[in-house]
Amino acid sequence: MRYVSVQGERVPAVGLGTWRLVGDDCRRAVLEGLELGYRHIDTAQGYGNESQVGEAMRSALVAREELFITTKIDNHNHEPKRVRSSTEESLRALGSEYVDLLLIHWPGDRQQLPFTLEAMQRLRDDGKVRFIGVSNFPPALLREALRHAPVFCDQVEFHPFLAQPGVMEVAREHDLLVTAYSPLARGKVPQDTTMRQIAERKGKAPGQVALRWLIDQERVAVIPKASSREHLQANLDLFDFELSDEERERIDALDRAERIINPPFAPDWDR
Ligand code: NAP
Repeated sequence: MRYVSVQGERVPAVGLGTWRLVGDDCRRAVLEGLELGYRHIDTAQGYGNESQVGEAMRSALVAREELFITTKIDNHNHEPKRVRSSTEESLRALGSEYVDLLLIHWPGDRQQLPFTLEAMQRLRDDGKVRFIGVSNFPPALLREALRHAPVFCDQVEFHPFLAQPGVMEVAREHDLLVTAYSPLARGKVPQDTTMRQIAERKGKAPGQVALRWLIDQERVAVIPKASSREHLQANLDLFDFELSDEERERIDALDRAERIINPPFAPDWDR
């Protein structure tokens, strides 16, 4: 496994996304993922699968310190008391004394942001959380969060059609982890001619090229979701080829600021 170095911490560059994996499917996919070598798992209070992730973690018999587990505070839990109680519920569901990374899943009321972040820092001080961060924070809001708290990460939609230059600039300035969610653009990557051409030349699949393009960027980790063993394995097999500068530039040129995840409560996206 390749690791991303951020603020002195090593984060596994390829994690397993678990949105829409529930019940036995989730338990099986996470267990299979851990057996194949995943050491970074992404869950959220809103995914309703923290207890299955926890069961898989325990069945896999991987030492807890080897794992990097992220969960996210739901939108209705931003109030400081709820930050604490809901995170404690997450820990009980996961069966773990701590999470590695606790994120605000979506930005909420701006006035409340410093208080939410303060409550998260108290959880960190108590050893229940190793790092705190945000998700779906566009660059200006990310800078605002950084004025209030030692943010470690922004988890954002990031794939060849949405390149996130603004978030990457803030990440460079502050040494932040950028976790790329929907890194396969939820199935759109294989439909693209450029991605298919490059993949064919490398003897790889277009999704593998997209994942490699992402993790070749400094401070970027990816969390593709996969449920079959074949997909789980494919998304780890990213290190037996390299992208040339010319190929990277061709993928860079695919950016069209295309967002797949854009719910009604999303913030105003600046780039
Ligand atoms: P994604 O990872 O871009 O795409 C997942 C889809 O790609 C699934 O249908 C999966 O199929 C398929 N797939 C996976 N590996 C493949 C392969 N090697 N070849 C062909 N198809 C493959 O999309 P996502 O689930 O939206 O994003 C990933 C994770 O990011 C989520 O699970 C979640 O953890 C996180 N996320 C976070 C937020 C947020 O607000 N912070 C929002 C969205 C997502 P199978 O399942 O059949 O394998």
